[in-house]
Amino acid sequence: PIRPVPAFERIGEENAFAVLARAAALAGEGRDIVNLGIGQPDFRTPEHIVEAAIKALRDGEHGYTPSIGIAPLREAVAADIHRRHGTQIDPGRVVIVPGGKVTMFAAILMLGEPGVEILYPDPGFPIYRSMIEFTGATPVPVPIREENGFAFSAEETLALITPKTRLLILNSPANPTGGVTPKAEIDALVAGLERHPHVAILSDEIYDQFLFDGEAHTTLLAYPEIRNRLILLNGWSKTYAMTGWRMGWALWPPALFEAVRKLSVNAWSCVNAPAQFGALAALTGPQDCVAAMVAEFDTRRKLVVDGLNALPGVRCATPKGAFYAFPNISGTGWSSAKALANALLETAGVATIGGPDFGVHGEGYIRLSYANSAENIRRALERMGDFLLSAR
Ligand code: PLP
Repeated sequence: PIRPVPAFERIGEENAFAVLARAAALAGEGRDIVNLGIGQPDFRTPEHIVEAAIKALRDGEHGYTPSIGIAPLREAVAADIHRRHGTQIDPGRVVIVPGGKVTMFAAILMLGEPGVEILYPDPGFPIYRSMIEFTGATPVPVPIREENGFAFSAEETLALITPKTRLLILNSPANPTGGVTPKAEIDALVAGLERHPHVAILSDEIYDQFLFDGEAHTTLLAYPEIRNRLILLNGWSKTYAMTGWRMGWALWPPALFEAVRKLSVNAWSCVNAPAQFGALAALTGPQDCVAAMVAEFDTRRKLVVDGLNALPGVRCATPKGAFYAFPNISGTGWSSAKALANALLETAGVATIGGPDFGVHGEGYIRLSYANSAENIRRALERMGDFLLSAR
């Protein structure tokens, strides 16, 4: 019989997609499901972006583009970073990819191998660990703690670095916690990393515009001292409500650039041409659509946090970024967060994700994405309240 090589036995999943499929199946049976499971904006992509992609199709942009993306888009990425952060980046090292995930895949594939250690946030985006395991590298979880505002602790992170550490994965604002790592902590982390020049850094900043309560984004691009070993991951999926377009970008250091360029030629040839023109319009067009979406998320954030804190046995810290709430459910009597998430879906018709799907330190929590209408959030909270009371 044919079968995949053993590495594929180690590859994991993103349970959000399984929950999405289960919620759709239940809805197909006529059940009314409120989906707070998947992490994608419920907004449509702004119209001027859609129009730009349609125009590109009409104008005959039907062929391959350069494998790392069209030059105007790579330049627009650099201009956007300069506009938002006042930081110069070389557009020649920007690589356009089919979704932010592809940068993660490429970076971990390029640096992971048996015998090396890769540090990643736990709880964190599940694909980090999955890909680390795929390469045979040793996954080393960096605990992300509620009592620390779900921020990285520089001290705790640096203490986990050994001579075998090859890569450190950072994510702020963070999935699944909504945590934002303060600038002072990032300053301390970078200062410490200067003592460990053998460690590359993958900074996943895909939620960089989803910040609340006056928080400002601290990008790792602001630290020239680590630029030569930094891979910066970002993209259009969340910021411009473009998850289905599959558009991401990354800045790669010179030492890894040729490897990712060759990978792009081998694996995807180039990113969908009309989508690149849509993404170009996103960066060069009006930005008020982003501000409007973030303002709407802010309203929902307050709704979801207040609602969760009113539920019996639930305690929810106020997330400062992204669009997730990560309530502590250890007071509900449910010792397994996955079992609670499952019961909420099957019995109460509310899709959420159990914290353990994001790592061992996620036990005792569930993740809710508040990228859903205020009305649906209210309905979900009401159902959760009824369910928790009846299940007592
Ligand atoms: N990084 C984080 C932390 C995410 O939460 C996600 C999507 O959920 C991604 C990256 C991937 O984004 P994309 O859809 O652009 O591949």
